[in-house]
Amino acid sequence: DHSGVSFPGMANADTDPAGRPSSARIYDALLGGNHNFAADREAAQHLLAAIPGAGEMARANRAFLNRAVQFLLDRGVHQFLDIGSGIPTVGNVHEIAQRRIPDARVVYVDIDPVAVAHSNDILKDNPWAVAVQADMRFPEAILDHPGVRRLLDLGEPVGLLLVAMLHFVPDDDAYPAVERLRAALPPGSYIVISHGVSDTPSDAALDKVTALYRRTDVSTAHGRDRESILRFFGDADLVPPGLVWVHEWPDPADGDPHGMAVVAAVGRITP
Ligand code: SAM
Repeated sequence: DHSGVSFPGMANADTDPAGRPSSARIYDALLGGNHNFAADREAAQHLLAAIPGAGEMARANRAFLNRAVQFLLDRGVHQFLDIGSGIPTVGNVHEIAQRRIPDARVVYVDIDPVAVAHSNDILKDNPWAVAVQADMRFPEAILDHPGVRRLLDLGEPVGLLLVAMLHFVPDDDAYPAVERLRAALPPGSYIVISHGVSDTPSDAALDKVTALYRRTDVSTAHGRDRESILRFFGDADLVPPGLVWVHEWPDPADGDPHGMAVVAAVGRITP
């Protein structure tokens, strides 16, 4: 029960500012977070009815994010641009990174005002991390944002994180935007992607999910096939094991997808 609970960006705990569910808050509800409204929780229930493994997938995706950030830290990447970062929950990128590198830089970007307000509330005493509200379909606005310019040195490797978010962006926007972002990053940078895949679960379940998200703030929600997901990496070199089920990266020891519908990969940008 969230009545009486309030947090930055939230006018009234049971009234969504936009009057509809948001993808950020549905995800928060799936993860058991408490920064969501009644409409978001209802949407999360519908999502679980269509895809019973959705909660497990969200947790597996979060665990992947953690492993990918550790992997990048091991390779000397100390700055992160986390686009579609969502509502802060267990294991945020700045916590993972700054535990090892206290002045690691993190810029969070999300389209959802509640996610951004709550992130900035958590980050208010953190000089090396900020959240900005922006739409990834307009990468120039992200790259030119004062927060990005202040914290990220685009002459040094950056970890670009697009985790569980590109399936909310239509092709005509997503491919050029990712290409623009990739082009802005120096060699030695990495691009980290997880993405809903379209061949599982059933088409009927996916249709329900697409219909569900049509009522939210995102313009689309659809899985892509593996080839289409790989296109986001462009010329980047995929690090082993390549594109695998999200819970299998980087260790594909267990080939059983356990009903997973999310795949993941990490690519290194080369000269
Ligand atoms: N990356 C986090 C993770 O993997 O745990 C959160 C993923 S959540 C499923 C997807 C996020 O993408 C939501 O917070 C949503 O608001 C954001 N999002 C969707 N479309 C976006 C867009 N065009 N630009 C920026 N963020 C967007």
